[in-house]
Amino acid sequence: MAAKILIIGSSGQIGTELVLKLRENYGNANVVASDIRKGNYEVMESGPFEFLDVTNKDDIKEVIERHQITEVYLMVAILSVIAEQNPQKAWDLNMTSLFNILDMARDGVIKKVFWPSSIAVFGPDTPKTNTPQDTVIKPSTVYGISKLAGENWCSYFKSNYGVDVRSLRYPGLISYKTTPGGGTTDYAVEIFYEAIRRKSYTSFLEENTVLPMMYMDDAINATISLMQADIQEEYVSYNIGAFSFSPKELAAAIKKQIPEFTISYKPDARQKIASSWPQSLDDSKAQKDWGWKAKTDLDEMVVTMLQGLHYNI
Ligand code: NAD
Repeated sequence: MAAKILIIGSSGQIGTELVLKLRENYGNANVVASDIRKGNYEVMESGPFEFLDVTNKDDIKEVIERHQITEVYLMVAILSVIAEQNPQKAWDLNMTSLFNILDMARDGVIKKVFWPSSIAVFGPDTPKTNTPQDTVIKPSTVYGISKLAGENWCSYFKSNYGVDVRSLRYPGLISYKTTPGGGTTDYAVEIFYEAIRRKSYTSFLEENTVLPMMYMDDAINATISLMQADIQEEYVSYNIGAFSFSPKELAAAIKKQIPEFTISYKPDARQKIASSWPQSLDDSKAQKDWGWKAKTDLDEMVVTMLQGLHYNI
């Protein structure tokens, strides 16, 4: 039977573009978007949408049965910055959402699950450059703690119940279709809005804070490739890398396109989170297991962002 897909959290930064790409690949009617808030025009117009709260198991089950869903992409989470402000709420949502979906996969209601992890699983004791797939994993943020627990629960459901759950450790994702939802790497999107509107930007991270980043198209392709790959004896939450830069280096790349652009720096509490994360990732396991390779480089991403936003704002 062909896959019928439900995306939960489809109005977010990743969900929006994931829905559109999956609809292109699987057909509009076979990809159901869902969230507690409406999605953008393209998502709402191109296929089915359900208002769905991921904490309500009965409602999820009803939607899954009504649409005969076989695969769920769970894109709901409270992200790093917001999670620091409300640890209990972040833990509750990030864990309840995952449990609800893993339980349904264990009970045979669905066949396959995608659940995203993050570079936030790594902490200050992890090697910073070319961070290995398997290494010291001691997160120092609320968000990272929930992602590490999530990875462990996925592994548990895979080994004890044979649940087919797949994960990526996304780096900071850059896109223009939807604004980001409260993460530490949000500066790398905001900077483009301000470059177009004001030709200047004040960064909330220090100038030399290098973080691993990726253009959204590559993240979406990685997600869909992993879900389609014929792999996996055991659960792996894969490192995937594309490029790394600091605010200063990103500003220099923007300056190539907008020569009058200037940047200043006013680090805030988000600096502490960024300083605890890796600068680059070793993604050789993803390359070997399912042929992962990023396509978009820094300069190409900058041009695409400026062009995309020029028409959107
Ligand atoms: P986002 O905040 O942009 O989107 C999350 C969506 O979930 C929102 O549309 C929100 O309305 C929805 N939502 C919130 N509570 C809900 C509920 N109770 N029921 C249903 N929907 C609910 O997040 P994102 O950036 O798209 O991230 C998606 C996933 O990818 C998350 O697990 C996140 O941790 C992970 N991730 C994202 C990044 C990144 O750079 N964006 C990096 C690493 C990992």
